[in-house]
Amino acid sequence: MVNVAYYGAFLEVGIFLFNLLGYNICVVIFYMMIYPVTSFITVWVINNMDIPADNKDRFYKVRPIYTALRNRCLELPAEEELAVDEAMIPFTGRLSVKQYVKGKPTPWGIKMYMLCGKSGQAYDFILYQGASTEFQESLLKAFGQGPTVVLQLAQRIKQEMGHKIYFDNFFSSYKLFQALKQENICAAGTVRVNRFANPPLMPDKEALKKERGFSEEICSTDDITLVKWVDNKTVVLGSNFIGKGETDKVERWDKKQNKYVTINRPEIVKLYNHGMGGVDLFDQLMSYYRIFIKSKKWTLRAIFHAVDFAVVQSWLEYRTSAREIGLPTKKIMDLLHFRMRLADVLVLSGKDIPNKKRGRPSATPPDTPVQRLRGETRPPEEIQYDGAQHWPLHENGALPTRCKFPECKGRSRVKCEKCNVHLCLSKEKNCFRSFHLN
Ligand SMILES: [Zn+2]
Ligand SMILES: [Zn+2]
Repeated sequence: MVNVAYYGAFLEVGIFLFNLLGYNICVVIFYMMIYPVTSFITVWVINNMDIPADNKDRFYKVRPIYTALRNRCLELPAEEELAVDEAMIPFTGRLSVKQYVKGKPTPWGIKMYMLCGKSGQAYDFILYQGASTEFQESLLKAFGQGPTVVLQLAQRIKQEMGHKIYFDNFFSSYKLFQALKQENICAAGTVRVNRFANPPLMPDKEALKKERGFSEEICSTDDITLVKWVDNKTVVLGSNFIGKGETDKVERWDKKQNKYVTINRPEIVKLYNHGMGGVDLFDQLMSYYRIFIKSKKWTLRAIFHAVDFAVVQSWLEYRTSAREIGLPTKKIMDLLHFRMRLADVLVLSGKDIPNKKRGRPSATPPDTPVQRLRGETRPPEEIQYDGAQHWPLHENGALPTRCKFPECKGRSRVKCEKCNVHLCLSKEKNCFRSFHLN
């Protein structure tokens, strides 16, 4: 059984914002659910009056949520191909650390540096807040900001072999490739040539005279490779593990000839194009069903972003596990259905039926249907087997309905109040009991 509740590591977020005697107190409740169905609740109370005077963290008010999220990210075994890039928490209101990142679908907001796998799964992140960002001072001094981001995010894979990490020219530098090599981390990315000490690469003017697909490779004494490749313009990539390698062929549109042409592509470009993009994919998944709130408060935006983050992460984890156990693709829920099912499970799993007193079932059906589908459908397994508050209801007068216990062809007037399905419960048969036992 693939249990949705388990993957929804952050199952329920109750947010109460209230003004108490003029103090803004934000209480965030995270119900976290761990398989099978035991839950614990984390309550963070952040009182504006309690923020230490010397606090430098601009994200202090939302920090506990992001720390919890990050801790989960760090627990996940990282994929082979990883990318470091920027992502945004969309926000256009007033906030001093707000950033504009060109080329992003939502260019304004809080910038996050992320380490994501090719699948989109996030493995670590840093919330950017200018000078007070949690960068290690020593790294910052020795490498500068871009490389520091990569080095910090790569710390979690330092002791593991076999990862490849990709990033663009905002991050890369010669010293970065060197430093990663010392930590046994394979890395490749586009580079700005001026961050390298006059590498003896062919000047662009000359290179552009060559045929499209031409490439040139140079290598430093400590095996840092630079490759210049001529596409419609020149591009330079650097790496500590791959160079020109085995070139393959790619199709490109040629404006002059007005047709597709086949050109050579160095292996480093192929690997980079293949491995880069995990962060963009994560950002894209986040954008599909983003929680909409009207508030102009950045704190609320950041909190709901964290919820979306948890759902996307959970779905990616779920999908990975579902594939691992060989679930056919058709049976794997897409992000939307996962989200809907998660919501259903959150509403009912392991909990009292709303407005009902414990142990005193009433004859009216529950207000919340287990599934928002037509007809009588099986409830999610997380609810069916949660062993809580499944009360039999006897429907007087109504025609008996087909029993929902698999293989039973009987009809029954008894239904489970919580699961909202009919089940036999008589002298001869107790499908009611069997149905709820896993
Ligand atoms: Zn039930
Ligand atoms: Zn039955």
